[in-house]
Amino acid sequence: MPIPITNVQLGPEVEASVLAVIRSGMIAQGPVVAQLEKSFAEMTDVKHVVAVNNGTTALIAALEVLDLQPGDEVITSPFTFVATLNAILSAGATARFADISAEDFNVTTASLASLVNERTKVLMPVHLYGQVADMEGISELASSSGARLVEDAAQAHLASLNGKAAGTWGIGCFSLYATKNLTSGEGGLISTNDDDIADRLRVLRNQGMRQRYQYEMAGNNYRMTDLQAAVCVPQLAKYEENVRRRNENALALNQALADITWVQTPQVLEGRGHVWHQYTILVRDGGPVDRDELIAHLTKLEIGCGIYYPKIVYDYDCYRQDSRVITDSVPVAEDVVRRCVSLPVHPGVGPREIEEIATAIRMATK
Ligand SMILES: *Cc1c(COP(=O)(O)O)cnc(C)c1O
Repeated sequence: MPIPITNVQLGPEVEASVLAVIRSGMIAQGPVVAQLEKSFAEMTDVKHVVAVNNGTTALIAALEVLDLQPGDEVITSPFTFVATLNAILSAGATARFADISAEDFNVTTASLASLVNERTKVLMPVHLYGQVADMEGISELASSSGARLVEDAAQAHLASLNGKAAGTWGIGCFSLYATKNLTSGEGGLISTNDDDIADRLRVLRNQGMRQRYQYEMAGNNYRMTDLQAAVCVPQLAKYEENVRRRNENALALNQALADITWVQTPQVLEGRGHVWHQYTILVRDGGPVDRDELIAHLTKLEIGCGIYYPKIVYDYDCYRQDSRVITDSVPVAEDVVRRCVSLPVHPGVGPREIEEIATAIRMATK
């Protein structure tokens, strides 16, 4: 049986809640969006959550309410999905890149600190694969340098550090895309403890309008629909169990792969509650196969795997030619993009699949 890298299973509760919205006749933003915002805010322990139409929009809106001017710099990770970079450019700012650690694949505080200058307006760490970056160090750096903090938590719903959830240090941006840990098909959530930011996000989302035809800013249509919210709401009650299964699978994979010396298994750093959006190994040099050969081998055996991500986020002509993209040196990220491969860790995977994945990797040949 093929083992897919992702597995979207929604179930009868989602069918019922979407049908109820269809039958209500009110399908745009309404009470179900409000319910999603309230429930996610409670789970995350944050004061405000604002739902938008996707995770990229969440990042753009978070940057837009910070009023960035041309030349203002946002420092982020070079090892991320392209949406992180696109959002910075859409908001009219300049992007630059701090190097990551190969332990957790996240930007390090030291690397961020080395790039901070008088043009730095925002630090934007990405909680990659569902593990929170060093937010204690990074928020201290933001305070001491006067930079704002936007967290790309697209992969990190309810991931935590010392009991505090992703999206509660700065403005948190979550994706509800189909393959994310929580989904509405397309959707995004923005979290903040700042009343003023939350207020501006709500006005921005709705054409800059507070009361009908009273415009306060040049806004946009970033609204989510009740149809989408109805897909996500029933998943919230089951999310803790989903994360528990992901953790179980990650631990079992780490154990099953422990004796394969050319494979470096992922770590959970001190104090982290990992939500395992992806389980990512590094293929060491000098083993029987390299990363691309391992992928070819697994694909032949119908074991799903993926490269998240195959290149540094700015390593494309369209960004190399853009003067708003400053390409700092990122040797760790350069090494990781060449050696990373993600394996199935979702709740549809069980002990039998883990055995199969580990055996396949152990037998890998060119
Ligand atoms: C998915 C993702 C996004 C964008 O979210 P969409 O909902 O697809 O727009 C942004 N950043 C990261 C790290 C992501 O994984």
